Amino acid sequence: MPEFEVFDDSDDRYIVWLNNNPHGFVLNVSRDNKTYLVRMHRAVCGRARDERNEHGGLTERGYIKVGALREEPLHEWHATHRPRAALLRCKFCLKGVGEPV
Ligand SMILES: [Zn+2]
Repeated sequence: MPEFEVFDDSDDRYIVWLNNNPHGFVLNVSRDNKTYLVRMHRAVCGRARDERNEHGGLTERGYIKVGALREEPLHEWHATHRPRAALLRCKFCLKGVGEPV
């Protein structure tokens, strides 16, 4: 069982996961694997569920999300699936938390 869940076809399923896992973490990832960066948020971060997006904009068009209860599986997903993209930590919800040196 992988410890992460990929959301690439349903904002509804993603929002349910966020609401059920408020202590979790998510990666915001461009669907295009030539993306330059991947950003990590806490599940509760407003930027992980930006409601300015029209429905479908979170996981159904240009972006997908990967959720996990711990950070490590997301680092593994990043290394496996987007090895050339930089992993940035959200400056709002993860400021000062586990900052890489
Ligand atoms: Zn955030």
